[in-house]
Amino acid sequence: MLTLSAKQNIPLGLMRPERVRSFRVTTDAELPAVLRENAALLLPVDWASIPKGFGVVLVRPDSPFASDHQCGALLIDPSLLYLGDGDVIRLTPDLHIRVVYRRNASTNSLLVTERCNSLCLMCSQPPRDVDDSHLVDELLDAIPLFDPGTREVGITGGEPTLLGARLFDLVRSLKSNLPHTGVHILSNGRNFKQLSLAQALAALHHPDLMIGIPLYSDIASLHDYVVQADGAFDETVRGILNLKRCGVRVEVRVVVHAATYARLPALARFIARNLQFVDQVALMGLEMTGFTKANLSELWIDPVDYQAELADAVHTLHAARVKALIYNHQLCLLDPEIRRFAVRSISDWKNEYMPECDGCDLRQECGGFFSSAKLKYSAHIKPQRRRDDALAGGLASIESFT
Ligand code: SF4
Repeated sequence: MLTLSAKQNIPLGLMRPERVRSFRVTTDAELPAVLRENAALLLPVDWASIPKGFGVVLVRPDSPFASDHQCGALLIDPSLLYLGDGDVIRLTPDLHIRVVYRRNASTNSLLVTERCNSLCLMCSQPPRDVDDSHLVDELLDAIPLFDPGTREVGITGGEPTLLGARLFDLVRSLKSNLPHTGVHILSNGRNFKQLSLAQALAALHHPDLMIGIPLYSDIASLHDYVVQADGAFDETVRGILNLKRCGVRVEVRVVVHAATYARLPALARFIARNLQFVDQVALMGLEMTGFTKANLSELWIDPVDYQAELADAVHTLHAARVKALIYNHQLCLLDPEIRRFAVRSISDWKNEYMPECDGCDLRQECGGFFSSAKLKYSAHIKPQRRRDDALAGGLASIESFT
């Protein structure tokens, strides 16, 4: 039996695209039935002859099947024990593996390209100018294996619109294979300055699709500085206008950091006056990964130090009936007045809590931290306690331990 272990989650560039196949994972709990039905035994089967849609059986080390050398399934390495039934992996014949989809994850993001036409100061996925067009083919192979009950799938990059019509192939595949699954595309919005691109996306008539587009300031030059691209502000605003003109739902995303927090109130007023028809505005905390690490001295501000600006922006948007959401922020740092706008937004696989959170009554409601936050996080994290006499008051009825 082969052991699936050492080369898990290798960088995309190291996988030879022509040899990658997607498989739905089945763990050994159902091994006999699965073997009869639709399991692909990888040894000594000719790789290319495994029919589409067959799964891979992962056998846990403590399973009775683990010592069955005739079994032909894959003995799972302890580091992969988190994989479960219905997950989807990409696999090469020499057992390079990448996890594409986890059935029980709250969100699954599909990286569709590493190329981008911006170079944001805090980019979490620093772009690479490579031909990675094979990623779309691999995802088109994998999407039919996803659970149709999946709540939402994200499409991310790089800049997904650089794929042109191939992006629409992906959306079409998601629509036909997962008709009840929401699709959230993260884009810098610049290419939607072409009305035809917005029209082509709208023409797919996806029933639950939203584009998340960052806008970092009401001042064009400041937005262009943050995304490191001249003219980006004009293109992005025109893109938002075109998408809404075509009936595509748009989320404006603002990452709050040292370069953007001061203009938050003015940006909220800009949105309320000029883009009031967007579907929601997400005010987001910084993720300590990618370029953020390199630019940390320029970007870091403790979230407690921008609460006045954040609260002002939230109140302006709310008063203008623009849906405001606060992502990636810890509840104990937020002004109590705006805690009700906070959303548990961090994907569960990279969501953690710090030692200071021990004993906090709000862990269930609090979004916690990105796992990368260990690099730097607020010095003001304090466990919270609900007052016994005000349980019905929800998040407004809390106080800090003293
Ligand atoms: S102390 Fe409580 S509110 Fe603060 S980050 Fe930890 S879990 Fe969230």
